[in-house]
Amino acid sequence: MTIREKYLKLKESLPENVTLVAVSKTKPVEDILQVYECGHRDFGENKVQEMVAKYEQLPKDIRWHMIGHLQTNKVKYIAPFVHLIHSVDSEKLLKEIDKRAKQNRRIIDVLLQIHIAQEETKFGLDFQEAGNILNNAALYSNVKISGLMGMATYTNDENQIANEFSSLHRFFKQMQTTYPSLQILSMGMSNDYPIALKHGSNMIRVGSAIFGERKYT
Ligand SMILES: *Cc1c(COP(=O)(O)O)cnc(C)c1O
Repeated sequence: MTIREKYLKLKESLPENVTLVAVSKTKPVEDILQVYECGHRDFGENKVQEMVAKYEQLPKDIRWHMIGHLQTNKVKYIAPFVHLIHSVDSEKLLKEIDKRAKQNRRIIDVLLQIHIAQEETKFGLDFQEAGNILNNAALYSNVKISGLMGMATYTNDENQIANEFSSLHRFFKQMQTTYPSLQILSMGMSNDYPIALKHGSNMIRVGSAIFGERKYT
């Protein structure tokens, strides 16, 4: 199947309320344009430099999603145009995004990244840290915390993946009662998005199932 066919098949299978972020990291602009020409506008990248380079080359109505770990000293490069930052994992980073958003006279939408996986290596906040940041959110007038993001453990154990996603969904629902601006629950990638959708996800981040396997050289 071509990229276009894989995209259209996936897109057609999704419920209307689910936003698909096409994760284009490592892929060339030609590949992105194939999906863009189907009418798709939400694309995800995990590296600042790569996102900036693609932003400069591609149509300006693309909504760029930063999904990878973000260093505070790099926020300034994406602050003028980024659509949604999924990976806020500290209050320090939130503060920097707020500062750069102000300089650009923007309000930047962000998600708090919650650590739900067993792996040590995945970035993210625990529930209590996320609760504390939400409590302080009023201090940062140029960011809007629009939701939460999580990544499940990379495993074949579907029960474990389901448990991790449902624990985040439960926390999301609970926080929503106090913070109604929380509307987005970003969970699910190529291998686990069907499980994520069963457990309350309304935004999925899919790369290889659209663009094919990534080759890292
Ligand atoms: C790479 C990446 C994805 C997409 O992964 P695929 O398995 O290719 O769908 C989703 N989310 C994050 C945070 C990523 O880094």
